[in-house]
Amino acid sequence: MLDETIITRAIIERYMDKLQSHLEVDAAIVGGGPAGLVAGYKLAQAGYKTALFERKLSIGGGMWGGGMMFNEIVVQQEAKRILDEMGVATRQFEPSYHTADSVLCASTLCSQACQAGLTIFNLVSVEDVMVRDHRVVGLVINWSAVEMAKLHVDPLTIRARYTIDATGHAAEVVRTIARKVDASLFTKTGEVVGERSLWAEVAESHTLDNTREAFPGVFTAGMCSNATFGSYRMGPVFGGMLLSGEKAAQMVGERLKAEK
Ligand SMILES: Cc1cc2nc3c(=O)[nH]c(=O)nc-3n(C[C@H](O)[C@H](O)[C@H](O)COP(=O)(O)OP(=O)(O)OC[C@H]3O[C@@H](n4cnc5c(N)ncnc54)[C@H](O)[C@@H]3O)c2cc1C
Repeated sequence: MLDETIITRAIIERYMDKLQSHLEVDAAIVGGGPAGLVAGYKLAQAGYKTALFERKLSIGGGMWGGGMMFNEIVVQQEAKRILDEMGVATRQFEPSYHTADSVLCASTLCSQACQAGLTIFNLVSVEDVMVRDHRVVGLVINWSAVEMAKLHVDPLTIRARYTIDATGHAAEVVRTIARKVDASLFTKTGEVVGERSLWAEVAESHTLDNTREAFPGVFTAGMCSNATFGSYRMGPVFGGMLLSGEKAAQMVGERLKAEK
């Protein structure tokens, strides 16, 4: 016999437990694309309390559609080890070019990150940051449904020792800082420089160079890094996204360790 009230209570209580135990985290990741998922996987694996907030229902960002909805992705040699480690099957297409089924890739990255201990809140949008003493100390969140319906509903907050902006092309967290905080970003203009046109090879190496702190307490990862610091987009080659997520996690992990 199934009691609907018990089902409802189970969902509400379990979700509230999850939310309450993540009101203060070591690391908050905004965006559940490939960069955010790898960052979350690595930080959770290292034992840091990490929450990822994703606006959409599904996790995986722009990975599902491969290139122009052909659901295969390409990764280069340097990044293949991350897919190997996370259990995503790849096939060599030509030396140094490997392909993976984008559906397998998105779902496996999500699964492995959760298994490692990352807590994901989907359908939640980050709409603002909290800044104290010239440092981002937390995020302002709301239901994506509230955002989409443009309802006048006040948000709630999450305290985070570090934030990773993995919001892709939109670079939403750093843009919010640039717009609302009376201080400069660590970019050449002090603002979000903006992304340039498509050049896969340069974009991929710049993604890694640009994976760094953009404002005290906030690191960029993935396409957000090139949008923030001003470099090319790369199209459907995803190695840079994976390596960037790994680098962002490493940098945040080092800071957290040093502060212990
Ligand atoms: C929906 C989508 C489809 C794409 N399709 C293609 C394609 O077909 N071919 C191609 O070459 N490139 C595509 N791209 C771009 C390419 O996939 C990206 O360059 C790559 O996925 C970047 O990875 P990423 O991890 O940096 O960010 P993304 O994969 O872009 O993921 C960023 C995630 O952050 C979430 N997000 C953004 N702002 C917020 C916020 N304020 N709060 C919470 N969550 C937020 C987004 O919903 C998204 O899931 C697409 C991007 C997106 C978002």
